[in-house]
Amino acid sequence: MNEINLIMKQAKETLRSNGIDEREARLLLAFALGVNANDLIKYTECSEEAAEKFREVLQKRVSGMPYAYITGTKEFMKLNFKVNENVLIPRPETELLVEEALKCDAKDVLDMCTGSGCIAISMAYYQKGANVTAVDISEKALEVAKENADMNGVCVNFVQSDLFEKVSGKFDLILSNPPYIKTAVISELSKEVKNEPQLALDGGESGLAFYEKIATEARDFLKENGKILLEIGFDQGQGVKEILEKNDYKNIEIIKDLSGNDRIIVCEM
Ligand code: GLN
Repeated sequence: MNEINLIMKQAKETLRSNGIDEREARLLLAFALGVNANDLIKYTECSEEAAEKFREVLQKRVSGMPYAYITGTKEFMKLNFKVNENVLIPRPETELLVEEALKCDAKDVLDMCTGSGCIAISMAYYQKGANVTAVDISEKALEVAKENADMNGVCVNFVQSDLFEKVSGKFDLILSNPPYIKTAVISELSKEVKNEPQLALDGGESGLAFYEKIATEARDFLKENGKILLEIGFDQGQGVKEILEKNDYKNIEIIKDLSGNDRIIVCEM
């Protein structure tokens, strides 16, 4: 038997010396033991098997695997999503995109580059009566997204497609949190982010490649007065606005996130 306190102390040191917040030790131990973190206080000892599992989990975390890939889940819009290395981990900032999208009260909704499906599934869950289509180029991401739709009890029409290539129909609202990191910047990202799919991060040389493509291709898939809502990087507001203007979209508006950074851009057909 192992002393939980000793294990925790060692784990905190390991995390700290690897530049990771030592508070994760508690969460990772709870995960390894299969208990709720708030209940850890009740345990003073654990089996050798559990200690071994904890060592494995710590090793993964220290090697740069994000916490969410270790536990395999991430909460988004108060819903649970399965995540693995085939999908981007849903970010809290993206909840703003969903909140703004819900205000539109749109019936036919498309989520481009759906990844884990977090945006599409949240729309289907919170906006009863909406018909939601979700698109991704990655078959492996779509597998995860489909599981997430089932897990959350919603129906979403999934399409494997390179952007709009295999999409049909017209939509009131097109949403997307596309890959928007400049290719050259990817190598400078934290090891955690580098563990996420390159495909979900890489926005080409300018970081704006997907906005360019979505802006040109989306027109044919929007109903009259249809809207587009896109998540953008904090420094991409002006760049994406120009792309939308060039493509004749109207009523372009940039919305800031809670940190005061440009985060969402909205426009109309
Ligand atoms: N739409 C998904 C998300 O917001 C995936 C985005 C992506 O892969 N770039 O998390």
